[in-house]
Parts: sequence; structure tokens; C-alpha cells
Amino acid sequence: MGVKVKASKIYLPKFGWMRFFNSRLIPDGFTIKAATIRKRQDGWYVSIRIEDKSIPDYVSKPLAEVNSVLGCDLGITKLVHLSDRYQIDNPKFSTNKKAKRTLKIRQKRVSKKVKGSKNRKKSANKLGRFHKKILDKRTAYQWGVANKIVSRKVDAIALEDLNISGMLKRCKVKVDENTGRFLKNGQSRKKGLNRAISDASWSELILKIEYLAAKQGKVVIKINPKHSSQQCRNCGHIDKSNRDGEKFICTQCGYHEHADIGAAKTIRDRGSARVRGDSAKLGVNHQNAQKVSPRTCVQTW
Ligand SMILES: [Zn+2]
Repeated sequence: MGVKVKASKIYLPKFGWMRFFNSRLIPDGFTIKAATIRKRQDGWYVSIRIEDKSIPDYVSKPLAEVNSVLGCDLGITKLVHLSDRYQIDNPKFSTNKKAKRTLKIRQKRVSKKVKGSKNRKKSANKLGRFHKKILDKRTAYQWGVANKIVSRKVDAIALEDLNISGMLKRCKVKVDENTGRFLKNGQSRKKGLNRAISDASWSELILKIEYLAAKQGKVVIKINPKHSSQQCRNCGHIDKSNRDGEKFICTQCGYHEHADIGAAKTIRDRGSARVRGDSAKLGVNHQNAQKVSPRTCVQTW
């Protein structure tokens, strides 16, 4: 080992002391475990894995001790809807109008310059710095959001299992059997949606929630989100047309409420069902919450 950080200098084995831009402090109580160096568009970056030994590995409560569950529905218009009606905004750091425009301009500037030229490198650096800025903003925001969620007075946080919902999967290619031509499959519309989804970075947010939850001895329950936004909370009727934008109106019994808050409540109920152990009835995924070690986390400079 032997990685050391001192103000604006970093010591790396084999390299020795180097000047670097110390963009963030190592939080109290953490020690450096390992370092990786990576070259990006605008320079060299070092990631350092830090460990807090005072935090035991995986300290979450057994499910039997969970009394209250918070449901958490991740979205795009709002980043998070909680089952207690609390909502958290999605600033769309890379897909808002202004950022999209800046990205487009900077990308254009790169492609207009001669390949291999100094000027091209300069504009590429500028573009890279803008990407980095977006990333930093999003990361900082997500820590705040994760903290807000985990700080609510509950023992457990129920989230949808993104591996099951597979939101980011590509649409299948559709081919016309007679002509052999490709048919519209909604891919281009989906492309925009995928971009918005990756801008929301749910999986990174979930990792932060898991990390903070484990630190506070709370449990994260991952549930199967199947039909969570289409199923009526009053009569159980499942229908795509139950949902009309932000509103949920059951086509069978007329029950209505805010669609995303309803989805968050359904996620909460499926989490509670897991706690009670009657998961079969609700089609809840049987897998245990993914184990995370909150002891270590990665910081990138
Ligand atoms: Zn109904």
C-alpha cells in the first residue's frame, strides 16, 4: 500500500510524491485502502478506496425487527416519490435545456476542428470538463437526496429492484415478415427516455441509499416492481389504462390518486409483505436484499 494524501500532494507507490488538485477531503475516520489511476479527456484522475473501520460490515437489522417501511418510487419528472407523500425534484443535470445546448455546442466545436490538432484537443478538454462538472453536481445532489430518504423515521426503505424492471434494456428489433424491412419499435423514443433515465442515475442513487442506510442500521428491501404503477390499490385490478399521466384512475372501481405516490405506497406494501413473510401472495421477489459493505466507498479526484 502506502498511498498518502497531504494537502495538494499525493504519494503513490512507484511514482512518488506528485502535485494534484485535491478536490475533496477524506472524511474523518476513513483510511486509504487502494488507489487507481485513470486517464480521462481532461487529465489524470485518481480514485481512492477509503475504509471506515468503525463501521462494522453490514449491520442492518434482521427483517423481523422492522416495524416501519418507507416506499420509494424512482422517476424522471420527480426523481423520487415517497410513500409518505414527500417528493424530491430531478434537476436533470445533463438533459435540461441549458445543459443540452451547451453540450451540443461544445461537441460541435470538437468535431469542426482538424483531427489530431492542438485546437481539437483544447475543445475536447473543454467538453470533458463540462461532462465532469455535470457528474460532480449530480453526485453531490444524490448524496443529499439519499440522506433525506434515509433520515426519515423508518426502519426500512423499500425500493424497486432495477435488475428486474430492466428499464435500460434496448427494444427488440422488429422486422416486417413480408418485406424484411425494419419496423418502428419505439427505439428512438426510448433513446430519449434512456437518456433521461441515465441522467437520473437511479442505480447510483440506490447505492448511496444502501450505504447510508447500512450506516444507520436501517434495512433496504428490494422488491419486484411488476405492475406497481398499474395495479389498483383499492381492488387489485391491473390495467395499463388505469394510469393517465400523473393521475391514477382505476377503470374497474374508479379509485383515484396521484399515480407516483400510489406506486410508492405499493412498493412500501410489498416491502412490508416481505417483512411479514407473506410474499407469495403479492408476487414479491424472494431474493434477500443485496448485501453491501458500507465500510468502503470510492472517491474520485
Ligand atoms: Zn380499482
